[in-house]
Amino acid sequence: MIPISSVGLGEEEVELVSAVLRSGQLAQGPRVAEFEAQFAALTGVKHAIAVNNGTTALVASLQVLDLSPGEEVITSPFTFVATLNAILEAGATVRFADIGQDFNLDPTSVEACLTDRSRVLMPVHLYGLPADMDALAAVAETNDLAIVEDAAQAHGARVGNRAAGSFGLGSFSFYATKNVTTGEGGIITTDNDVLADRLRVLRNQGMRARYQYEMAGHNYRMTDVQAAIAIPQLRRLSRTTDSRRANAATLTSGLAGIDGLVLPEVPSGRESVWHQYTVRITPDARSTRTAVIDALGAAGVGCGIYYPKLVHDYDCYRGLDEVRVGPTPAAARAVEEVVSLPVHPGLSDHDIDTIITAVRAALT
Ligand SMILES: *Cc1c(COP(=O)(O)O)cnc(C)c1O
Repeated sequence: MIPISSVGLGEEEVELVSAVLRSGQLAQGPRVAEFEAQFAALTGVKHAIAVNNGTTALVASLQVLDLSPGEEVITSPFTFVATLNAILEAGATVRFADIGQDFNLDPTSVEACLTDRSRVLMPVHLYGLPADMDALAAVAETNDLAIVEDAAQAHGARVGNRAAGSFGLGSFSFYATKNVTTGEGGIITTDNDVLADRLRVLRNQGMRARYQYEMAGHNYRMTDVQAAIAIPQLRRLSRTTDSRRANAATLTSGLAGIDGLVLPEVPSGRESVWHQYTVRITPDARSTRTAVIDALGAAGVGCGIYYPKLVHDYDCYRGLDEVRVGPTPAAARAVEEVVSLPVHPGLSDHDIDTIITAVRAALT
């Protein structure tokens, strides 16, 4: 079976992790500091604050913005559940805007969702493609909203001459399936000195210096073992991203011209890091999505549906005062139509041929 994601760790990671283990300094230490400097440089921001996972990164970002109960975060309903859970954990109210053709927040729909309680705009850079940040940042600016980017899938993605995660507070994940992984891990990026300082204190029990507590904090720290896994991957990131781009380009030329199969496009001015290569199977297709997925499985091609339902469409969120749901027809269509195909750097040319042949066979 060709897997939908793969982890590509090498000898450099083994060496660096071994050095950390031999040093006896396992908790947050010099390797975390090194990784933070490296990630800040990648994102072109002054500060990067490493934390224990990507969900924590979102929660902490919202916590330092000091929202009052009832104040609203506007985000996408077409995302992983962590986006929603983080907003609820931070004690805020969530309002969902619709998405565009790019699967990301539609700036016009965001404007239609604004209320006098709107405080934060949380775009999700889904599948590694940054949202339309020029338009979204303009909406945020006009309406005095803070920006928290859910960049969990978008390490190194760019909009114009800026990186995803550089528009306000950026939140990244290093979960096992992400483009950079530490098993579990996260980081927050920002140019804002005051928020960066608060995040560092919040992460460490609210402690500025030994036993000097400034706020009721948390233990959100990353370990030096995790950072040692990440450092070599960041050095290689432009190469692994180029490999994802090349795989995406091969898939796109091999899958062109099939009725009812909509291929992913990167709008001009944006650079995707291809966390996923996600197609739509529309009602015009020769086969249903379920049948296509079954056929791909039989041909040895792993694929995934990210995500099968709108994020709030589960009983545990229904009727909650903090979850404000309106009509989002484009997102509702996306959950019915999307399928992600393997695009990761572990694919061989033969694997990509197998994927193209299997999709063509299922739909023509
Ligand atoms: C992975 C992911 C997260 C959460 O990250 P974890 O490290 O798994 O906590 C948040 N948002 C999105 C869109 C993700 O894909």
